[in-house]
Amino acid sequence: MATRGATQQSSAPYNRRIVLDVIRRRGEVSRKEIIDLVALSPQTVANITQDLEEIGLVVSKRLKGEKVRGQPPMAFALDPRGGDSIGVSLEPRKASAALVNLVGEVLHRAEVEIDARDQAATLKAVVALVGDLAARSSDAKRLWGVGVALPGPFDVPGFSFTGPTAFEGWTDLSILEELQKATGLPVFYSIDSAAGALGESLFGVACDLTGFFYLHFGVGLGGALIVDRAAYKGAGGNATEIGHIPIVPHGKACYCGNHGCLERYLSLHSLSEFVTGRADVELTNAEILTLLEADDEKLMDWCRQASSHLRNAVCIIENMLDPATIVIGGSAPRALVERLVALAMPLRHSVRGRGGEGASRITLSDRQEDSSILGAAVLPIHEMLSPSYEVLLQERKGRAEVETFLGARSTGRVTAI
Ligand SMILES: [Zn+2]
Repeated sequence: MATRGATQQSSAPYNRRIVLDVIRRRGEVSRKEIIDLVALSPQTVANITQDLEEIGLVVSKRLKGEKVRGQPPMAFALDPRGGDSIGVSLEPRKASAALVNLVGEVLHRAEVEIDARDQAATLKAVVALVGDLAARSSDAKRLWGVGVALPGPFDVPGFSFTGPTAFEGWTDLSILEELQKATGLPVFYSIDSAAGALGESLFGVACDLTGFFYLHFGVGLGGALIVDRAAYKGAGGNATEIGHIPIVPHGKACYCGNHGCLERYLSLHSLSEFVTGRADVELTNAEILTLLEADDEKLMDWCRQASSHLRNAVCIIENMLDPATIVIGGSAPRALVERLVALAMPLRHSVRGRGGEGASRITLSDRQEDSSILGAAVLPIHEMLSPSYEVLLQERKGRAEVETFLGARSTGRVTAI
């Protein structure tokens, strides 16, 4: 698919990002292929690739093989040394973080147990994680910032910050201001499902898709709809909060105030509650995997129930939104997700197809347990790497040379994505 570049002079940053985006998605691409894909003149593409190389975001090399005349053609790829980003995935009992480079490789990873009800201790733990990872970045000037992914919804009185799948007791996200002050790094944040979806879109299994649905399967259950490679937000910024769709009439009481919500049956919290009989215990992934390997009877009961809800959820999502595929990521162990998907087959009939075509209707993240962290890490670099006209209309401070060059947004010290 050709991505159309803009012709006006003021669209130079947009054109640079269009070209950068093609290079990122293709992995390695020749100048001729770029010209074919972006509808910009050969001279403009030549100028842009030269500029991108000079500023350190792409590397070029001569392609081996058949020489037509003169030098063999050049190929361009993202330069992994172009910059790093720190991703922090916050869950009620766990903070996971990683230093990620410009091509989405996890360079270092760290994880600590937290009790998010203690906000001061949580902040201290996250500051320590970020500080440790920042020190490992090879170039402090090219550390784009910290992305934080955390459960939604945001800013809904009586709904946000309630229950064990959210940050119970918090009243706002001022902790992120504190994180910014303590680390001196720009902080970007998003609902975990939207972050995970952007991670898959930039570096994961959805790299070649402009639209898909993302199911975030962690302690809770969230969703994100990607349209034209941006997360659809809805009127209040909390669209596709699928965990709170009522799915069982007169079902289990949910922390949102309703009964029978999907998350009460399909989430790691619901698994722990079902297996242990306690709502205040979260099994670790290692414990879940041990039970799974042993075909634990209680866990298998949960899996059978959860998979029938997954089967219905897939049908609802497909009939509502007709996504190219449903990507499943999040902090749940991949082996557990694989088991649930296998049990959910054959899928129900929907606008995406009939039961036997399940393989392409569901796509598992190939990062699964790292997908949340990767999603968080893309928040500081997403706008830089992914072209959107909307960004050009917003005020920019141009904090860093590259941000100005690419027209990426830097609206303040703590930015919602
Ligand atoms: Zn609910």
